[in-house]
Amino acid sequence: QLHTYDDLTKVNPVTPTTVLKCLQARYSMKVFYTHAGCTLVALNPFQPIPDLYSLDVMKEYHLAPQPQEFKPHIFIVAEEAYRNVRGQLEPVNQSLVVSGESGAGKTWTSRCLMKYYATVAASSSLMKSQDTVERIERRVLDSNPLMEAFGNTCTLRNNNSSRFGKYIQLQLDRCQLLVGASVQTYLLEKTRVSCQPANERNFHIFYQMMKGATDEQRKEWKLQHDQRFVWLPNSEKHVEEDSFHETVKAMVHLGIDAERQRQVFRILSGILQLGNVSFSSSANESQSCDLDEQSEGFLHRAAELLCVSADELQTCLRVRTLKAGKQSVFKPCSQAECGVKRDCLAKVIYAQLFEWLVTFINNSVCADKSTWCNFIGVLDVYGFECFQNNNLEQLCINYANEKLQQHFVAHYLRAQQEEYVSEGLEWSFVKYQDNQSCLDLIEGSPVSVFSLLNEESRLNRASDATTLRVRLEKELRDSANISWDRFSKVPHFTVTHYAGKVNYQIEGMVEKNKDPVPPELISLLQKSDNPLLHQIFSDKETENPNNKGLSKVTVVSKFKNSLESLMKILLATTPHYTRCIKPNPDCKPLTFEKEEVIMQLEACGIVETIHISAAGFPIRCRIFIITHNWNNERRAIMFFLCLCMCYLFEVDKLLSVVLHHLSCEDRRSLVHCGRTKVFLTQTMVNLLEDQRKKIL
Ligand code: ADP
Ligand code: MG
Repeated sequence: QLHTYDDLTKVNPVTPTTVLKCLQARYSMKVFYTHAGCTLVALNPFQPIPDLYSLDVMKEYHLAPQPQEFKPHIFIVAEEAYRNVRGQLEPVNQSLVVSGESGAGKTWTSRCLMKYYATVAASSSLMKSQDTVERIERRVLDSNPLMEAFGNTCTLRNNNSSRFGKYIQLQLDRCQLLVGASVQTYLLEKTRVSCQPANERNFHIFYQMMKGATDEQRKEWKLQHDQRFVWLPNSEKHVEEDSFHETVKAMVHLGIDAERQRQVFRILSGILQLGNVSFSSSANESQSCDLDEQSEGFLHRAAELLCVSADELQTCLRVRTLKAGKQSVFKPCSQAECGVKRDCLAKVIYAQLFEWLVTFINNSVCADKSTWCNFIGVLDVYGFECFQNNNLEQLCINYANEKLQQHFVAHYLRAQQEEYVSEGLEWSFVKYQDNQSCLDLIEGSPVSVFSLLNEESRLNRASDATTLRVRLEKELRDSANISWDRFSKVPHFTVTHYAGKVNYQIEGMVEKNKDPVPPELISLLQKSDNPLLHQIFSDKETENPNNKGLSKVTVVSKFKNSLESLMKILLATTPHYTRCIKPNPDCKPLTFEKEEVIMQLEACGIVETIHISAAGFPIRCRIFIITHNWNNERRAIMFFLCLCMCYLFEVDKLLSVVLHHLSCEDRRSLVHCGRTKVFLTQTMVNLLEDQRKKIL
């Protein structure tokens, strides 16, 4: 009967094994949502579940007086947040935090949440039929496929993996209607444009174009049917169906006109052509490398599509400009350096294009400040990552997860404790894993991994992995959260995160953190005759010559700042947490693999969460509220028993009848009477339930 437990705090005892069994039992009964105290656990079915998210179901949850009494569902979380906005005293902004590993269902869940609000927060007449969603709701929803086309890809873990984090604020007016939205994105994995991991792909949009373009467009964008592009691996792997059409439709809805679209696709096509440009090794150092024979055509096409001079493009890729005082010195690039520059050009163009797109979407969907007064934020960020090779990207991602975990623990425990204090209960039971020490290690001052990384990045010396390693080892040796395997050949460091240990490779980290863009590339793009390309680079400073081409803000500083502003927003809202779980690594429908699940339960600290919830009081009977629920038989009896205990009988006497087998110690911690509420622990609830069954 394990599958009937709709809250994991009900399993007894709470261990990873019992929690796992319960989730598995539910999964096999096709029940995918389970509460875990204050969080919702969502198991990915990897299969469309008919009617689970239908309009009728939305309405049911939305109109129910007590949606919490329905089966666990993402709509409970959605509805609770929606009602919370109204607040008891004053309106409160809400945040829905969706976490989980790649492929667990975060993006799906965020989409569900957005659809829910686009439906229930639309003006009421629109609830009749799904296809009458109003313009603003339509646009808000259309931002999803568009951002996914540019920011998602097919990876080994997920066929539609988001390679960026996002926080969407849905703006509500005084009547709680959806009037707009704003999007903030984080850390797009731009390296993917020029370098795709084995058996993975580039961003969807490139394949969509290849597949969906008309003959005319193909001609304009110089994409022959049989053309092989180096940066477009595994084209055959996946069927795009109509997605190009969908993307273009979303562009139209959001107000990107035909001319702008042309500019966007010419830029994208230019990037693809660039990927086929390669260089031969030069005979000696003073000579620059030549283009490979077949590259000539690609380079010209790239230049034509990007609307820059082919000669200048070629020079930019083959020659480095070094600034010495006011003078410029030109130095031919080695074969490898030419490749790095080509990749850099593609990455910077793509990243800026993505940024432009996000800004455009914001301009299109954001409501005027005077028209909205509250928001519900939906956060869809990458979960904890631990791969064979981890580098700066994983460090940033895992750092973000540490931050979110800290926020979760602090918020939830604080909320509970505040309630106990206001109820006059004196009981501090909460012991939890504090991850401050790990955050100090990563971002703290005066010294931390980030500060050392930044220093090394600013020194502008040829980055050497050993230097950083030695410094980390020397200056952070007092931290309990970092360790080294001295015998390992590859320089690395190991961080003990709340979710587990991760080895980070040091090689390449400094360079990634600098993320330098040679100034001559920026100048080249600024001269482009493609209006869009020209526009997105027009405000970019070509680096200050005194800076020797170093970009001023490092990747980790930028990420830390954007994360800090996100945390500020989260702290000012009421959060709701959903933990998505991927039941098997191969995305197989309805397949539950224990090992896989247990790892994720550990990684998101779910067992701990349940402990916290179970150690607390799952049921707080606010006495006067319960009396309204006489129709609910079970609650009435519970209430009756509580009342008996608290008022009619001496608590201890009744307890001794009910719980004669428990020691005195246990008894005292089973029931607590606050000022307005009776607090029952889970054990007490179970015992009462047993009694109830006997009575009935
Ligand atoms: P994440 O964003 O966590 O990496 P996604 O949200 O992209 O993962 O989910 C991966 C895939 O799993 C989706 O493309 C979809 O096929 C499937 N999926 C996720 N959640 C559900 C669900 N609730 N019902 C059906 N399929 C789902
Ligand atoms: Mg995703």
